[in-house]
Amino acid sequence: MFDKIVIANRGEIALRILRACRELGVKVVAVHSEADRDLKHVRLADESVCIGPAASADSYLNIPAIISAAEVTDAEAIHPGYGFLSENADFAEKVKQSGFVFIGPNAETIRLMGDKISAKNAMIAAGIPCVPGNNDPLSDDNKKNLKLAQKIGYPVIIKAAGGGGGRGMRTVHTEAALLNAIAMTKAEAGSAFGNPTVYMEKFLEDPRHIEFQVMADAHGNAIHLGERDCSMQRRHQKVVEEAPAPGITEEQRRFIGERCAKACIDIGYLGAGTFEFLYEKGEFYFIEMNTRVQVEHPVTEMVTGFDIVKEQLRIACGEPLSLTQDQVKIQGHAIECRLNAEDPRTFMPCPGIIDQFHMPGGPGIRCETHIYNGYKVPPYYDSMIGKLIAHGETRKSAIARMNTALSEIIIDGIKTNIPLQQDIMNDSAFATGGQNIHYLEKKLGIY
Ligand code: ADP
Repeated sequence: MFDKIVIANRGEIALRILRACRELGVKVVAVHSEADRDLKHVRLADESVCIGPAASADSYLNIPAIISAAEVTDAEAIHPGYGFLSENADFAEKVKQSGFVFIGPNAETIRLMGDKISAKNAMIAAGIPCVPGNNDPLSDDNKKNLKLAQKIGYPVIIKAAGGGGGRGMRTVHTEAALLNAIAMTKAEAGSAFGNPTVYMEKFLEDPRHIEFQVMADAHGNAIHLGERDCSMQRRHQKVVEEAPAPGITEEQRRFIGERCAKACIDIGYLGAGTFEFLYEKGEFYFIEMNTRVQVEHPVTEMVTGFDIVKEQLRIACGEPLSLTQDQVKIQGHAIECRLNAEDPRTFMPCPGIIDQFHMPGGPGIRCETHIYNGYKVPPYYDSMIGKLIAHGETRKSAIARMNTALSEIIIDGIKTNIPLQQDIMNDSAFATGGQNIHYLEKKLGIY
């Protein structure tokens, strides 16, 4: 195992990684911005290095500063967490060139899966079902594009190959709107992602978001840890996640999961990853792969009893997977509510000082947060301040436990989305399970 690693992230995920390191006896270097000196994991780390001013571009996205921090502290590896540089192939490459281990897949794999067209083609080659579409860059031939859309059938969606974060997409319902939509998405993609390449696929109108967690080692082994349903979204941002996905059969889980594991072997995948699918009328359609640990990984950990972050570290050290597919067992049901520092009605971020924090507890409750009494939530970063996870024998008992935990938790001094989460947990359609990705926005009256 490593002697010492750098955690190139902040907030709850940095603390989560620090805890995994503690269990494995790995020393931790926390790198942080000037605004983050008081972060919980910075205080708990063995060493810390300030890598720049508050703005992410000058600190958490500052590649030379992070690599220098690893050099001066004599660390061996860098864990990128999620967001920031976690899916930046150039960063993974520079980390390796500088003589450190990047805790994640290699740069070529990140690059392959970071381009949505090459990712889709790799998945088709691996036998993964994809959304019907052209799977090639769209040409400037108007006639050809009109024909293509007709063949796919309206509505279609024009997507940027280099897009991310729910941006760089345009839905087209009629032939009259097609050419203009292609031109506009191209222009936007060029300025936003530095890559004007776009492609076309069928727009699915009523899908759920279901994703599969995978882990692969450097010895040619790969497993899946079942699926998560992340359909409760607002503006393509997940709000609630759960595992397993309601209504998905053991047979469907095995069919898609095994294909995902095989795809990992095909592309030489390393570490933890997620295959995201849209699910409609009993069919799965691949949309993208996330080549990192995800915010919602705890729901999978709760139902499998498997520590994904510790396994990331072991795999990066060259150890073989510690589980075989047969040993993966899904037990009970887990739900995660993201806790955001924001107004529950307007969704405006609400940074500030937390006057009082009381953590909930009880059977099956897990609270992943870096906040504490007197902690000041800075205005510079994502508004997520933690996650509450409830595990129960059934989905119903997980919801009941989540409701109890939400009624116990106290976060005073700032506004949070806890009232919204309580509203969702008491929603009769959510209780049934299996709502589509538009459900929450419809409920909120904004779709
Ligand atoms: P990003 O990388 O920006 O997150 P994704 O390809 O994962 O982009 O898509 C984000 C979201 O956009 C999906 O969760 C879904 O809500 C919507 N979306 C993408 N492709 C389609 C499609 N073919 N049909 C319907 N909705 C889609």
